[in-house]
Amino acid sequence: MTATDADVVVVGAGIAGLATARALSRSGRSVVVLEARDRVGGRTWTDSALGVPVDLGASWIHGIDGNPLWDLASAFGIDTVEYTVGSFQFDGRPIAWHDPSGVRLSDDAARAFAADLHTVDAVLHSVVADAAPGTTYAAAVATALATLGWTGPRAERVTEYTTHRSEDLCGAPATLLDAHGLDEEHVAGDEVVFPGGYGQYAAALADGLDVRLAAVVRSVSSSDSSVTVGVADGRAFTAQHAVVTVPLGVLQAGDVTFDPPLPEPVAGAIGRLGMGVYDKVFLRFPERFWDDWVIRQQGPAGVDWHSWYDMSRVTGQPVLAALVGGSGARRLETRSDDAVVAEAVAALRRMHGPAVPDPDAYRITRWAADPFARGSYSYLHVGASADDHDLLGTPTGRVQLAGEATWGDDPATVHGALLSGLRAAGRITGAVAPLPVTVLG
Ligand SMILES: Cc1cc2nc3c(=O)[nH]c(=O)nc-3n(C[C@H](O)[C@H](O)[C@H](O)COP(=O)(O)OP(=O)(O)OC[C@H]3O[C@@H](n4cnc5c(N)ncnc54)[C@H](O)[C@@H]3O)c2cc1C
Repeated sequence: MTATDADVVVVGAGIAGLATARALSRSGRSVVVLEARDRVGGRTWTDSALGVPVDLGASWIHGIDGNPLWDLASAFGIDTVEYTVGSFQFDGRPIAWHDPSGVRLSDDAARAFAADLHTVDAVLHSVVADAAPGTTYAAAVATALATLGWTGPRAERVTEYTTHRSEDLCGAPATLLDAHGLDEEHVAGDEVVFPGGYGQYAAALADGLDVRLAAVVRSVSSSDSSVTVGVADGRAFTAQHAVVTVPLGVLQAGDVTFDPPLPEPVAGAIGRLGMGVYDKVFLRFPERFWDDWVIRQQGPAGVDWHSWYDMSRVTGQPVLAALVGGSGARRLETRSDDAVVAEAVAALRRMHGPAVPDPDAYRITRWAADPFARGSYSYLHVGASADDHDLLGTPTGRVQLAGEATWGDDPATVHGALLSGLRAAGRITGAVAPLPVTVLG
């Protein structure tokens, strides 16, 4: 195929781009996928440097009920493990809570804390529903606590939990998240992870497609009759349509230029939405010194190092993962590997004592510093509207954007990315709705 023979050029070989390309290819269109990295998958990235597969990007299917990824797991023969705590739940998989001094909460105290969170969430629901435009999630939580009349350590524990929820699910501090920023976080059914890694999806979707790796796209120029996509090395690909799936952070940085410039409402949505940061620190130990699925630290010591996940349930090897979002992630990205590992081990010794050994291997992500991600996922920055996600995906002539940030029902997820790709493909084939997921299987 010559470059000008393609019906469609897809920019980005993450899940959105690969779903777009595979659906179009299955519908008889010729497609070229241009990917900046030397691998497919984007923010799904399974790595084996620790000797077992670990996911440096996405790990979970956030709710298997009605989720297209769940259907595809069977179609692609991908094994799963149930691990229902990926949406920062407080009563999914068992959690070992540690109080601010590092001591583990008794079962009764842990139950009381979970009950407090249920109580606050019920009040918070109405506070958010009535929130004036421009209200932050942090302000909504403060209002909910004032309504309940809670103060002191009880209110502090709840506030820090909701702060971590914002940083974890949105990658943003609660003071920057719109009060409605967690409205779409409903999880239907169990959550699962993949012993063989999320990367299996990208590999299966890419099978048979024309994917050009190491193709850093710099420009997208469209006319009435065609669209030309320019690559940093001077190559140009001309097609009838272009679907651009680069992350929101890459669009915001202006790393890809559009001629003519992206019009409203797309340009406005790019400016209003936020790009959050969420990073992972994997530590491989000589042996397991913990018994729990999830370990959480309350209080000031848990500002950054608050949540640990037992990867041995998934990999069979003694690996713990700390997940850090928002300001904590941005701070850690400025530190050396040695400094990050030292902080992580100190945090574990605070809870589990001085006998915690040094890890014999580690893996640290830095998604904000990644030039082809510039963050981890999109979020509803205060002042943005929930409609901005779908507005971002508004087709403009021969060009449309796709990707997690464009899927209003479930932004910041892999299945949102996948569905946005099926929507983009459906628009090109003239379908009235997103193409069905069965086209991918
Ligand atoms: C640490 C982390 C944990 C996460 N956890 C979960 C989770 O548990 N569950 C979940 O559902 N979601 C999770 N997510 C979110 C999920 O990974 C994303 O929503 C989803 O993978 C995004 O897919 P996408 O196709 O929209 O974007 P991407 O996967 O980012 O794909 C875009 C592609 O464009 C490429 N690109 C960028 N710039 C250029 C350029 N100039 N030229 C050519 N190509 C370019 C990129 O390299 C990339 O391959 C997580 C994300 C991160 C970072």
